Order: sequence, then structure tokens, then C-alpha cells
Amino acid sequence: MSEISRLADKITTALKKRVYGKTFYCPVCHLELAYADADADGLVVCPLCGVVIELADVWGHPLPVVHDVEINRVQPKARMHPVLTHAPVGLLPFALLGALFLAVVSLLAHLLPSGENALLHSNEFQALLQAMPAISQITLLLLGLSVGFSLFTGISGYVDWLRRYGGRPYKVIQLKIYLTIAFFVVGLAALLLHATGMVFGADGLVAASLNGTLMTLVYLGLLSVQMGVIAVLGHVGGYLVFGR
Ligand SMILES: [Zn+2]
Repeated sequence: MSEISRLADKITTALKKRVYGKTFYCPVCHLELAYADADADGLVVCPLCGVVIELADVWGHPLPVVHDVEINRVQPKARMHPVLTHAPVGLLPFALLGALFLAVVSLLAHLLPSGENALLHSNEFQALLQAMPAISQITLLLLGLSVGFSLFTGISGYVDWLRRYGGRPYKVIQLKIYLTIAFFVVGLAALLLHATGMVFGADGLVAASLNGTLMTLVYLGLLSVQMGVIAVLGHVGGYLVFGR
């Protein structure tokens, strides 16, 4: 698990560099902010702790100086988005597991020699083959719920940004909006592949053909991209709620 978290941290850092440009740390809560977040007067409100920071020019170097603390802020209240995020984040790994299971069983069903193979002709494996259409439908449902909920999660994040952060143009929010759109679009593509039967047939198995193999690889690739995107989204969102 720590490996995955380290990988997500690595990707997050690389992405942040691209979107944020030059960064500094809030002197109070140590949240990483972009110089580009400051307005024309060089002022920025930390979205996490609510202090008003001025990027003062000290011998040619911008230095964050804390001036004030926003009193009338709603950040700690009305946390709709952080609660909703758990639906897409929690469901996607199960959709990915279901997809991998379907692919592995398909591989076994096609690759095992059909003659006198004990595993292929065992009652258990035959029962599993019977259950494959249902497993395919459940996987599709989990993926559909994850992608569907991500739409509500995205909208709630947008509303929270307007309400809790006053719609201020933070780079961290921009990054989260980009990634949410990426998650949704890639998710729709994966859903389309699955729902139209291009990956798994009516028997719940991948067709034993080059096309079937290619479609499965594309499908698993899309799900993996979604997994990476949502891990980074959760990572960045966690910073916004808990700080470093
Ligand atoms: Zn702060």
C-alpha cells in the first residue's frame, strides 16, 4: 500500500510542477501554493487555514508574509465534496478487480487444453463459467456507479469551491478540475466498451481473437488510468482538507 501511495505522490509532484509553476508554502499550515494564485496586488488567501498572505518582494525574491486571518470563512462547514468523493474512490477498485478477474478466467477458459483437462471440466470451473455473465454485469454496474458518482462529486466540488473558497482561482483547484474531467471522460470510454459488449461477450468471456485481446488491453488500460487519476485526486484533495 505504501508503494502505491509513494507512486501517487510521485505522479502528483510531477503534475503539480506542470500546473502550479513556481510554488511556496503557506507560513502557517505549510500547504503548497502557486505564485500564480496571488492576485494583482500579490495577495492570496490560503484555502486551508484562511490566512491572508502577501507575496512581498524582498531583494527580488517573493517572500510570503502573513497579514491577517479570514474570519468569515466557511471552509470547515458544509463539507459536501469530501464526503461524496468516497463513492467513486471506493467503487472503482472493485470494478478494476472484477475486470481483472473476468480477463483471467477468460484466459484460462481459452488457454487450457480442451481435451482431458481436470480443471476445465471440474464442476467448480463450470459453475464459475455459468456465473461469468453475472460477474460481467456486476463489474459494469460498479464501474457505472463509480463514473456516475464522479459527476456528482465533481459538481459538488465545483459548488464547494464557489462557496467555501469564494471561487478564487487556485492552481490546486484547476488541477482537480482537469483531473476530474479526465476521470469522467476515460470512465465513459471504458463504460462504452463494456456496455456495448466489445470486451466481454454474452457469456461474460473475452472473445478468443486478436480483437478480443486488444479490446481487453485497452479496457484494462483505461481502468488503470482512472485508478491513477483518482489516486492523485484523492491525494491533492487530502492536502486541501488536512494539510501536510
Ligand atoms: Zn495555510
